[in-house]
Amino acid sequence: ATMPPLLSAIANAGRHGVLVKSAVVMERLGRVDAVALDKTGTLTEGTPRVTDVRPLAESGLDADGLLASAAAAEHPSEHPLARAVVRAARERDLRIPPAEGFASSPGVGVTATVGGHAVAVGAPARLSGGSDDGAAVGAAAVAGELEGAGRTAVLVRRDGVAVGVLGIADRLRPGAAATVASLTALTGTAPMLLTGDNPRAAARLAAEVGIGDVRAGLLPEDKVAAVREQGAAGRKVLMIGDGVNDAPALAAAHTGIAMGRAGSDLALQTADAVVVRDELAAVPQVVALSRRARGLVV
Ligand code: ADP
Ligand code: MG
Repeated sequence: ATMPPLLSAIANAGRHGVLVKSAVVMERLGRVDAVALDKTGTLTEGTPRVTDVRPLAESGLDADGLLASAAAAEHPSEHPLARAVVRAARERDLRIPPAEGFASSPGVGVTATVGGHAVAVGAPARLSGGSDDGAAVGAAAVAGELEGAGRTAVLVRRDGVAVGVLGIADRLRPGAAATVASLTALTGTAPMLLTGDNPRAAARLAAEVGIGDVRAGLLPEDKVAAVREQGAAGRKVLMIGDGVNDAPALAAAHTGIAMGRAGSDLALQTADAVVVRDELAAVPQVVALSRRARGLVV
């Protein structure tokens, strides 16, 4: 028997490395007319590297001490930035002390108790408290310098006091700009970028791939609001993301696609389709496959 077009399209999508979870999803993919992209782990490779380790002079920590305590707090986290911090500590052969009471907050950062100290690691603009002391002012200056250079700055606090800043850099996925161009051609609209990262790192990367609509500093619920806003304007939004922080937006979108290799379990479960092989270019290909299966010319 010949396979129904949507089932053949699912098989074809599989050959392109995309797991489409149902025939309904395969059909819906061809209807999307707007795209929202996450940054870290989606447009970028998601294997960022720590480029700067900057303890504050008054913290009493040296670079290794700062990195080791940050790595201890980040150790249980699956976030790409957390893995970068742990990797950097290992590369320097640092002993990563045990941590207790780990907690993470999507789009913000992590907290844990390390050697009797409460350590917090995360977005400088989001870690609250103590923002008027001298250490906080010093940390903000370092974070501003690193962000100005296009890095993601991560603040480290100990017992409520800023002790240092880490600079982290990620690379664009090869072909990211071409994928953005294909998605623009297919939907007739340029994708928008939704990220929890700082506006400067986001704007720099967006310019490199040809995205003009950039929303930065977003919490998970802000990503949902951006997707809903488009939906309310009558658009069928395709959301592409990888993180726990993307899961609500993946669910709120007309169709959600998760990046599979380094994607969080929650994102993979929530999404309608998963890019199993790590190629972003497969996304416009499956949209085109869906349109062909529905008998629309691409
Ligand atoms: P994106 O939306 O680009 O994928 P996230 O929402 O996951 O980024 O993270 C947004 C910001 O929150 C990061 O740029 C970082 O400053 C901070 N952050 C989140 N999780 C962590 C973590 N585990 N360690 C350090 N910083 C974190
Ligand atoms: Mg992400």
